[in-house]
Amino acid sequence: MITCLQASALISRSFDVQLGGEESRLVEQHTRACPACLRYARELELIRRCCRELVEEALGEGGAPLPEGSRRRLQARLELALQG
Ligand SMILES: [Zn+2]
Repeated sequence: MITCLQASALISRSFDVQLGGEESRLVEQHTRACPACLRYARELELIRRCCRELVEEALGEGGAPLPEGSRRRLQARLELALQG
């Protein structure tokens, strides 16, 4: 089984790129056995959903997505906030 460090790295990455089948399987296997990483994955998902809703609200229906740079900075700040 992968470590928490590996799992959290994969979980973070899954928000930027689609994980491969093997990687998804490893994360799934880990989060089934590890409540801490499951919580991490859920919090990230929640934040991502909140951000998307906020952005969509701000831009209106069919608005353009946030520029890649802004999205990354926002995500990094939120992750920092969660860790702190
Ligand atoms: Zn873990």
